[in-house]
Amino acid sequence: MSSTLLIGSANADKARELAAILEGLPWEIKSLRDFPETAAPEETGATFAENALLKARYYGDALQIACIADDSGLMVDALDGAPGVFSARYAGADGNDRANNEKLLEALQETPWHERTARFVCAAAFYQPGGKTHIETGDTLGHIAISPFGDNGFGYDPLFVPDGFEKTFAEMEASEKHAISHRGRAFAKMRAWLESQA
Ligand code: IMP
Repeated sequence: MSSTLLIGSANADKARELAAILEGLPWEIKSLRDFPETAAPEETGATFAENALLKARYYGDALQIACIADDSGLMVDALDGAPGVFSARYAGADGNDRANNEKLLEALQETPWHERTARFVCAAAFYQPGGKTHIETGDTLGHIAISPFGDNGFGYDPLFVPDGFEKTFAEMEASEKHAISHRGRAFAKMRAWLESQA
């Protein structure tokens, strides 16, 4: 008999992507579209792991259901790890990708290529009311480009050149990106952990 597992993400694209990664597991996967009345929590954690767990706990407790949630962002070495947990609202308004990218390029205007090192980080959290809590993380190292390249993806993808490649995430097909992405890596580990629990 399968139990129900909620993907606690208000971002429909991400929820779809995560559902695909978790396909074939003995869980009946649900999304927040199945619970449209549920408001999103405030992301007040100081780390990606804290925010991921905060979201999984919030939805899990509210709906009394096992829940998986993630939190992710970009950490730039020359900016002491910024924008970090504030990646979505780096330039102010939540989720304005163009403004965020412009602000990042401006902040790195004087920074040469070899010092433009950065990493994408993703924390994935599983929470079951009255049961187990589990966290996995994944990261991808790279550099911040001098200007944006590519039209695919979202967020900082046009500025992120992963190590070992000469193109940005936004110049990759989704499958190529997810094979090496922070989110792909964190959820591959989470999938393996869920399989080990079956
Ligand atoms: P969240 O995990 O949905 O809260 O994402 C936070 C923010 O980090 C996003 O709004 C993006 O700005 C950035 N981000 C996270 N993952 C990616 C990615 O794979 N590509 C580009 N930007 C990302």
